Amino acid sequence: MSDRDMKTDVILIGAGIMSATLGTLLKQLVPDWNITVFEKLSNAGEESSNEWNNAGTGHAALCELNYTSEKPDGSVDISKAIKINEQFQISMQFWSFLVQNKLIQNPHDFIMPLPHMSLVHGEENVTFLKKRFEALSKNPLFQGMEFSDNPEKLMEWIPLIMQERTSHEPIAATKIDTGTDVNFGALTRMLFDHLETKNVNLHYNRSVSDIKRTSDGLWELKVQNLGSGEVERHKAKFVFIGGGGGSLHLLQKSGIPEGKHIGGFPVSGLFMVCNNPEVVAKHHAKVYGKAKVGAPPMSVPHLDTRFIDNKKSLLFGPFAGFTPKFLKNGSMFDLITSVKPDNLLTMLAAGAKNMSLTKYLIQQVMLSKEARMEELREFIPNAKSEDWDLVVAGQRVQVIKDTEAGGKGTLQFGTEVVSAADGSVAALLGASPGASTAVHVMLEVITKCFPHYLDEWEPKIKEMIPSYGVSLMENPQLLNEIHTNTSQTLGLSEKKPVFS
Ligand SMILES: Cc1cc2nc3c(=O)[nH]c(=O)nc-3n(C[C@H](O)[C@H](O)[C@H](O)COP(=O)(O)OP(=O)(O)OC[C@H]3O[C@@H](n4cnc5c(N)ncnc54)[C@H](O)[C@@H]3O)c2cc1C
Repeated sequence: MSDRDMKTDVILIGAGIMSATLGTLLKQLVPDWNITVFEKLSNAGEESSNEWNNAGTGHAALCELNYTSEKPDGSVDISKAIKINEQFQISMQFWSFLVQNKLIQNPHDFIMPLPHMSLVHGEENVTFLKKRFEALSKNPLFQGMEFSDNPEKLMEWIPLIMQERTSHEPIAATKIDTGTDVNFGALTRMLFDHLETKNVNLHYNRSVSDIKRTSDGLWELKVQNLGSGEVERHKAKFVFIGGGGGSLHLLQKSGIPEGKHIGGFPVSGLFMVCNNPEVVAKHHAKVYGKAKVGAPPMSVPHLDTRFIDNKKSLLFGPFAGFTPKFLKNGSMFDLITSVKPDNLLTMLAAGAKNMSLTKYLIQQVMLSKEARMEELREFIPNAKSEDWDLVVAGQRVQVIKDTEAGGKGTLQFGTEVVSAADGSVAALLGASPGASTAVHVMLEVITKCFPHYLDEWEPKIKEMIPSYGVSLMENPQLLNEIHTNTSQTLGLSEKKPVFS
């Protein structure tokens, strides 16, 4: 074993969409900083960011019912939907900037226009959907949303779901044509290809096993070369822990007080995929339903058209489940080794509070393919088993922490940036809304970690993201300009699909 010592300005741990986005932002803001990336797998975007490991929904709250809730007075709270939509507009502007400036090429390699729909059954749900539609459609961010409870109209919108439907239960849907399907794996790879041309040092098959502060105020990483077995030591002024499910362990190793009393709860995912061209041709939308009682929000069932490798397919799921791994390529000891003296009580409290969720997830893991087909048939009444295959999706590690509102060991379903007080290290935990809001979240890392550079960087940030620091909802004119510009640049204005 040899010990080599290297020094750089920035180290990004993990080659997923988050590191790719942060690296690209930083290269635009400070081109002369040296950036080094360590990824333990042999390619970029192979864990959660991979196209087959997530649902590829450009989350803009156009169809996800869990982003809007009913208030005690019966009205619908759309504040979370507004927040997520505004965050997605930030990603769209940044991606447009990259395409316009030829930093990445053909946008249809990673983003496609696709209607987003919400679909509900039963009188109570139909009433809720109508109220939700009325609240959202008044807002400029959700312009163009339509509602229908007319089976003939629904047959036009979603023939695969409506044909051979025998139930007479009330049914309704909303539809908005400005939705997207995003191939986050392709985008991640495109961003790293670009970064390589900008002298970013990308090292694959390198696992970061330790991170500690040195006496000279830098961070030293212990990096194992998984090919040769060699161990290297690398130093940096700033480290981003973008290891996805692997981030919590590294955050704990950093020893920063901000990383204490935090735990992780892994939720696995399964999708069903259909490649039968006859079935695939009958559906062209992402159709989100309602989560079952007791199911976590990330298991809201949806039937999606996907565009992967110039091919259209259908994806149904996700079926949430439980394994103790924090990464798809992780270890069965991930959960147990994440329990430390400082988070033991938090984890125990979370365990006690979430017994029913854990039971639900374990039951889900045990489901047979036929039981999963029955869930699919709630969407496609005549779905045939032979047309659908199971694929294992990525792992999501939900953050567990003590909160004022939820008490000890509260399970969080969002994303959290945890950074040191001096901004020299930051980690990203959680996975929702996820890759769609990567640019917003990485700007949060920049704001927290480089506050003294913000005045200098602001003009460049505004060039990349014209709505930076501005509420689009309150500036409909800017919103219109941005919509027109992003949909032209990203090729989202066609009515006809490019692939069939
Ligand atoms: C089932 C499922 C469905 C989803 N659906 C959507 C969706 O529809 N829309 C959406 O926007 N988001 C979705 N997400 C969330 C989204 O996929 C994630 O938020 C996003 O991909 C996370 O990116 P990341 O870069 O943080 O992590 P990852 O893509 O997981 O990348 C982390 C990388 O770090 C590497 N790594 C880990 N530890 C180490 C180490 N010690 N040393 C070196 N390398 C390391 C890993 O190998 C990996 O390549 C979904 C996620 C799942 C699991």
